Amino acid sequence: MTNTISILGSTGSIGRQTLDVAEQLGLRVAAMTANSSVERMEAQARRFRPRLAVLTDEPAAKDLAVRLADTDTKVLGGFAALEEAATLPETGTVVTAVVGMVGLKPTLAAIRAKKRIALANKETLVCAGQLVMDAADRYGAEIVPVDSEHSAIFQCVQGCADRREIKRLILTCSGGPFYGMTYDEVGKMTKADALKHPNWKMGPKITVDCATLMNKGLEVIEAMRLYRLPLEQVSVVIHRQSIVHSLVEYRDGAVLAQLGTPDMRLPIRYAMTYPNRGENPAEPLDLLSCPPLTFAAPDRESFPCLRLAEKAANQGGTACAILNGANEEAVRLFLADRIGFHDIPRLVEKAGREVPVVQNPDLEEILAADRAARRAVLGK
Ligand code: NDP
Ligand code: MG
Repeated sequence: MTNTISILGSTGSIGRQTLDVAEQLGLRVAAMTANSSVERMEAQARRFRPRLAVLTDEPAAKDLAVRLADTDTKVLGGFAALEEAATLPETGTVVTAVVGMVGLKPTLAAIRAKKRIALANKETLVCAGQLVMDAADRYGAEIVPVDSEHSAIFQCVQGCADRREIKRLILTCSGGPFYGMTYDEVGKMTKADALKHPNWKMGPKITVDCATLMNKGLEVIEAMRLYRLPLEQVSVVIHRQSIVHSLVEYRDGAVLAQLGTPDMRLPIRYAMTYPNRGENPAEPLDLLSCPPLTFAAPDRESFPCLRLAEKAANQGGTACAILNGANEEAVRLFLADRIGFHDIPRLVEKAGREVPVVQNPDLEEILAADRAARRAVLGK
């Protein structure tokens, strides 16, 4: 179990829930980072008294430094400071809870510093999974997934010494707010509709990704990278209740699943306490009062993003970085009311067509693919 953690993205949905868990488990928080949320960061810093607080937005960091002048917390601004937060010597576990590809460099820095990575920032694995996993192997850094599906799988493979015994990973998917609609009906949905997730309360980007099913597509790629499996061995099943968090089918036909209430603090707690389990003060799952558990096939016609992600997963190389960069940019435009819902898959597909794929990319080639994909979306 970890005693001291650093949280990249402490003001977000995962970051705040990580602080709840840290408080419950009595963990020390050495560093916390955010982009520009000055007030929330000030409140968090006063409560958790980290050694370092970072805001990547420089003017916001200057403001924070003034506000925290009476405390022992050092304040830094800018992106490079994320790497300092990720590598403090006293930190055992770095929780990567920033949203988007910006998490990649600090995650790699934490790996090089041999930290345990409690990985929520899925975009990092989608863009540079091979690089991240190879670095983790080389430096002996543990990666413990926080994403609920991947945490479920991680829990279901404990005790599995030979990964060849795994036949298939089955990722569950809530289906999002537009489940059951036709392609045309989905196209009429607005930002407000997309931001209403049936089971989870999350940041805006991932909530939109859940509505398009791109989130599940990103998670398929995340699972392929974490467990080094081909696409044929990672499948998706719709499970509206979000109680079965994912399953592992073994060669002998046994299927192991992890169940729980839809509460991200459970996988976050497990990433902190692994290989042990900590006390959870929340209400436990009551099988007798929970709704009937149902399963269905995903609809790739109404939700083309899942199909696009699977295509990129098959292409390999920089295809997933292109997919992710285009999606980040398209979701940003959608959240700014500048494009419609179906423009998201349309623009992702456009970037996939226009940006050439490089196989076995290095970090620079991945970053270049990300930039090119964003330019393709913006028509530049
Ligand atoms: P939020 O949008 O709620 O929080 C994002 C955090 O990252 C905030 O602290 C934000 O700071 C910071 N941030 C945003 N942009 C930047 C930037 N450019 N540079 C530095 N920091 C930045 O996101 P979530 O907590 O929902 O998601 C975080 C990650 O976890 C995502 O990758 C998501 O896919 C993954 N995840 C989330 C789940 C959830 O339940 N929320 C479930 C599974 C995975 P500020 O407040 O200043 O903007
Ligand atoms: Mg998930």
